[in-house]
Amino acid sequence: MSLNKVRVRFAPSPTGPLHMGGVRTALYNYLFAKKHKGTFILRIEDTDQTRFVKGAQDYILDSFKWCGITPDEGPGIGGEYGPYIQSERKDIYQKYAQILIDTDKAYYAFDTSDELAKMRDEAKKMGMPNWQYNGVSRMNMRNSLTLPQSEVDTLIANNTPYVIRMKMPRNEDVRFEDEIRGWVVVNTNNLDDKVLFKSDGMPTYHLANIVDDHAMEISHVIRGEEWLPSAPLHVLLYDALNWKRPKFAHLPLLLRPDGNGKLSKRDGDRLGFPVFPLDWTTIEGELYSGYREKGYFPEAFINMLAFLGWNPGTQQEIFSLEDLSNAFSLARVSKGGAKFDPEKTKWFQQQYIRSTHDEDLANMLEKHFPKGLSNSEKVTVCSLMKERATFIEDIIKDGAYLFDRPKAYDEKVLAKKWKSHTAGLIKDWVKIIEDLTDFTATNLESKFKAFLEEKELGFGAVLLPFRLLVTGVGAGPGMFDISEFLGKDEVLERIESGLLHIEEIKNEA
Ligand code: GLU
Repeated sequence: MSLNKVRVRFAPSPTGPLHMGGVRTALYNYLFAKKHKGTFILRIEDTDQTRFVKGAQDYILDSFKWCGITPDEGPGIGGEYGPYIQSERKDIYQKYAQILIDTDKAYYAFDTSDELAKMRDEAKKMGMPNWQYNGVSRMNMRNSLTLPQSEVDTLIANNTPYVIRMKMPRNEDVRFEDEIRGWVVVNTNNLDDKVLFKSDGMPTYHLANIVDDHAMEISHVIRGEEWLPSAPLHVLLYDALNWKRPKFAHLPLLLRPDGNGKLSKRDGDRLGFPVFPLDWTTIEGELYSGYREKGYFPEAFINMLAFLGWNPGTQQEIFSLEDLSNAFSLARVSKGGAKFDPEKTKWFQQQYIRSTHDEDLANMLEKHFPKGLSNSEKVTVCSLMKERATFIEDIIKDGAYLFDRPKAYDEKVLAKKWKSHTAGLIKDWVKIIEDLTDFTATNLESKFKAFLEEKELGFGAVLLPFRLLVTGVGAGPGMFDISEFLGKDEVLERIESGLLHIEEIKNEA
């Protein structure tokens, strides 16, 4: 491996569905790898078997597939550094725990969970609610630092459950340079003696994580801010094992739309937007909704996600995955939390729907169109409706009047825009329509303009009532385009029945 080769990893624990914050972490890793012609690795961190959730790993892979983020190495993909699932690497870790013990960087601790609970209780009673197993308290506990060697040997020989803990040095400053945050300095007196290895023969996250990052030759650890407090321990472990530290970059948190706190998995459906890429149903049957099922395009989702914590430094907002790979840099990732904006997310989706070819939209909607429409009609419906649509179904839903005559007429528009002289004006306009042989949008428009000029009227005085009669609603795509699509006879019939209906309403009022 060349020294400067970029190798990054996304290392989720399969404890549930992947939150959009997780997808963003994966995305930034992916973009960073692509930008530097490096390697993007997926590693499953499942050493905590008690938190394992069935289906979570498949969910991660399915989400990646939907988003177009393809790992270069990982489970089911292969690579020279596998296996890529930590439970399949079980035998690797013990050796390093032993080295740490042998070099006095770690120690055995035999305290039972009852003993630990008792210590915590006593500390609480003495006004110390946050008791920690650390450089001071360890001397009052049952471990290989306090017990005679012979007793330690006997306990181990008798298979007494133990854990291996980090022997956190006293009063040392741990320093490392974070690619996003700059220098981070933490005094070890603020750190506890974390468990590195458990009696079930499994390492904890901390040990497995650094052992694998080293073994997989990870050059940059790019992960969420929630892991920043663990970084000093990781740095000390690299140093203790005489390994080169990777570079670190801790990404900003994703915040709720009001900026109040971290965006959590419960927020989504509560606040009316998804926080997961795909739908996920818990074993209890609870559904967390996903962007895919809500109708977002993966391109829009990724584009939106990329901007949550990063910006290109220009006005450009629309970026394909490839554009993002070229533009991305850690230097432009912000330190401060990134506020999630559901409206902006919809805006991205709108931009993507607008830039999708009408033919492609028509194909996507194939099953949704009412029967009897020709292909070219379907394409026209898409071209008419996509400007105002957020999701592809909106094209059919909002464009219902392109298939069926209106059953009702927007009452607000009617109250506001239907004047005593409106019906008369419409009847004059109908006369012009009746004489038209060329019923194209362009011709209709020029005839309409001439009609207004002659009557010395503004656009709205007739156009809006015309729209209301033909579509039943007060807004939509160009009325002349709609008219051309419907055809002369249909337009005239709609106007006629609309007028009858409205006059009835007006008479009743
Ligand atoms: N397994 C950790 C997680 O679930 C990985 C943290 C890291 O990237 O070091 O997020």
